[in-house]
Amino acid sequence: MEVIAVSPRGYCYGVVDAMTLAQRVARDPKVPRPIYILGMIVHNRHVVEDLARQGIETLDGGDRRALLRKVRRGTVIFTAHGVAPEVKEAARKKGLTCFDATCPDVTRTHKVIRDRVAAGCQIIYIGKKGHPEPEGAMGEAPGRVHLIEDAADLAALRLDIGSGKVAIVTQTTLSQWDTADLIAACKSRYPDAEVFNEICLATQVRQQAVAEQARAADVVLVVGDPRSNNSNRLVQVAQEVAGRPAYLIGSVADIRPEWLQGAKVVAVTAGASTPSQLTNQVIRYLQSYDPETPSGAAEPDLALRLPGSGR
Ligand code: SF4
Repeated sequence: MEVIAVSPRGYCYGVVDAMTLAQRVARDPKVPRPIYILGMIVHNRHVVEDLARQGIETLDGGDRRALLRKVRRGTVIFTAHGVAPEVKEAARKKGLTCFDATCPDVTRTHKVIRDRVAAGCQIIYIGKKGHPEPEGAMGEAPGRVHLIEDAADLAALRLDIGSGKVAIVTQTTLSQWDTADLIAACKSRYPDAEVFNEICLATQVRQQAVAEQARAADVVLVVGDPRSNNSNRLVQVAQEVAGRPAYLIGSVADIRPEWLQGAKVVAVTAGASTPSQLTNQVIRYLQSYDPETPSGAAEPDLALRLPGSGR
């Protein structure tokens, strides 16, 4: 079967830096044990399992404040998604050793929020409810940052602006196309609002690549974890912008033969938190796939070589 390996795809610089930091912390005997990560360092369970083998426990399920309450001693690593200042302060007060893997692009968004709030603005933050990145961003100015996910949220929003202004800020991993529509809707309601479109470059170029390259395919497979926002957005871009059927798979084991029925060309891409090995396995499997004699899903080799692991 012909395979379009969409490029660029997969790991972004923020994820590589975060995992390199975690690996370095795990190898350093001077770092106090136990070592925890508050939340999944990236939304990929294979990465989480690999870190566990190296002695880093991922705390998951609940917001960062709740996760931190489970830690009594040792070391915490904050994830690439960023964390509220209140959480950093609480960790410091507990006497924990802290490492911050926040992506520089997320750090910049936090600074935009602090600066605009200091200038008297109310912030409309366009992001995904329940995702850790908005949680950290909203924590920069509790009560002044208002999370909206869609037009219904905007319609329900009641801002007490007074003599101040409005600033619109976005999460880094959203769909460019959805976000443009929602920003336009915000602007029509608050025409004087300043706009800070913070969708990061890595997200933009991966979405653009799918939008352009997937058009030549009959079906699109996106390799990524179900909780990865940028992976889910790639599926959405493939469906809504490239106009192709698209599916999210965790690994080669999730491929269903019925998706490939009648397909001659398959495009493959991956979220920014997806290990390249998983994507390469999918590509190799599809290249040798014979639709006349589909053998079902191949057995995945899930031994990973993570950035900084030295193995
Ligand atoms: S997707 Fe963008 S903001 Fe998120 S870690 Fe990667 S580079 Fe940073």
